[in-house]
Amino acid sequence: MTREHAKESLEGTFLKSPTYPSNCLAFLNEKLIESSNNTCRVPLNIVVVGAGLGGLATAIALASSGHSVTVYEQAPALGEVGAGIQIPSNSTRLLSRLGLDPYLEKYVTEPEVISFRRWESGDIIGLTCLMPDFRNIFHAPYYVIHRADFHTALHQRALDLGVSIKLASRVTEYNPQGSSIFSREWDYCFSRFDRVKSVARRLVDKPGQRAFEQTGFAAYRATVDVAKMKADPEISWLLERPSLNIWIGDQRHVMTYTIGAGKSFNMVLSHPDTTDPVSWDRSDALSDMKREFQGWDKRLEKIIGMIESTIKWPLVSGIPLTRWASGRIVILGDAAHTMLPYMSQGKCCNGCRRWRGIGMSLSKIESKADIPQALGIFEQVRIDRTSKMQEASLLNGKLWHFSDGPLQRARDAAMQPETRGEPFSHSPNQWSDPATQMWTYQYDAEAEIEIAWQRSGM
Ligand SMILES: Cc1cc2nc3c(=O)[nH]c(=O)nc-3n(C[C@H](O)[C@H](O)[C@H](O)COP(=O)(O)OP(=O)(O)OC[C@H]3O[C@@H](n4cnc5c(N)ncnc54)[C@H](O)[C@@H]3O)c2cc1C
Repeated sequence: MTREHAKESLEGTFLKSPTYPSNCLAFLNEKLIESSNNTCRVPLNIVVVGAGLGGLATAIALASSGHSVTVYEQAPALGEVGAGIQIPSNSTRLLSRLGLDPYLEKYVTEPEVISFRRWESGDIIGLTCLMPDFRNIFHAPYYVIHRADFHTALHQRALDLGVSIKLASRVTEYNPQGSSIFSREWDYCFSRFDRVKSVARRLVDKPGQRAFEQTGFAAYRATVDVAKMKADPEISWLLERPSLNIWIGDQRHVMTYTIGAGKSFNMVLSHPDTTDPVSWDRSDALSDMKREFQGWDKRLEKIIGMIESTIKWPLVSGIPLTRWASGRIVILGDAAHTMLPYMSQGKCCNGCRRWRGIGMSLSKIESKADIPQALGIFEQVRIDRTSKMQEASLLNGKLWHFSDGPLQRARDAAMQPETRGEPFSHSPNQWSDPATQMWTYQYDAEAEIEIAWQRSGM
């Protein structure tokens, strides 16, 4: 059934998608997904380069469509660095379709709210209800999880689907038109390289195009033992309900939530930093981090004081590409669209929707000759979406970081209705703003690919 047919049969009349921003036809997407078949007609031998969160998710999506998938990972052992990660509803919806629910359930936490807090007092200035609202509105939960647990769940699911994972296997060269890598036969290759270091990216990029821009920010990532926090009544209240708390202030913010079934308190501390990561001295990180947030909410300072070790990450934003594919290669993940983590969409975007989209697109080809068209459709749908998400993340970097003054007061006043449970039509909190919220979390990559295929007439 095509979307137009779906509309026709449901409404008895032809409905053209409106050109103005509207979700009035979104109900047809569900019908479209119900009627679409994600099982591939032409099984391919596919190589995925990189067994990070994105690479494994891509492998799962492809293997569950019926392709034979081999993942090459340069590291001698699998693992994830960093601490927590958010998996928003637009990703959990797709993870669920891929059969990840039983693999994730023991690891995930479902926060009830996101509270935006004033930097110096911790007073709530913005509030988004996630549970039950996001489940009810978007029919998918909003989770947080330890990255290592997420990685374990994806790894296990990939193995159960028969994905072959080759460790200590660094890919150094590609032949985009040919079909050889490591002397193996392959039909198609996905590369999920480390951001700007991507070799494959250079194959699809315009020569000389800059891959990313410095944002002028870096983030400390750390965890605090929850047992320590529970022992201090001044901060133990933060743990009473699973929630995300984000303190925002001049050029800085601190995002927090519990992970590891409530055992660990995850913190991402974003601050201005224009220095070259090559010059960073890890032994200074802890003291530098504490200095950056001096004078903030005393309770937050107390928690920061409990951090025993931290790692500083540079925060860059990718420059939107016009192409992700060349011949039989396509780049995905941070290699294609690295972004500030300020919409919590990097991986899931952030990743999840892309891999599911590529699985859907490739499942539709009738012969290997259709691969370039499948990539073209995938590219067209996904580049548009990720470029906009990069923009939304950069905007959060402005909205959250006002110094005290008229703009900050206007922003905080505009978020007041949501903190009081009153109706509102717009909000500078992009988790709450009705238009951004719907665009971000209602999005269904599979439905969008399906629609694009049907429009292409292939
Ligand atoms: C502070 C911070 C917070 C974040 N928070 C969130 C969040 O809450 N939610 C969210 O969705 N996203 C978040 N993100 C973004 C998210 O972490 C990334 O988008 C995601 O991890 C990217 O996954 P990837 O698989 O594309 O790349 P990577 O995780 O970098 O994996 C790449 C893999 O490829 C391997 N590799 C590289 N080159 C080769 C080669 N030549 N041969 C073989 N293997 C190779 C590497 O060893 C690695 O294992 C955050 C990012 C940061 C920095």
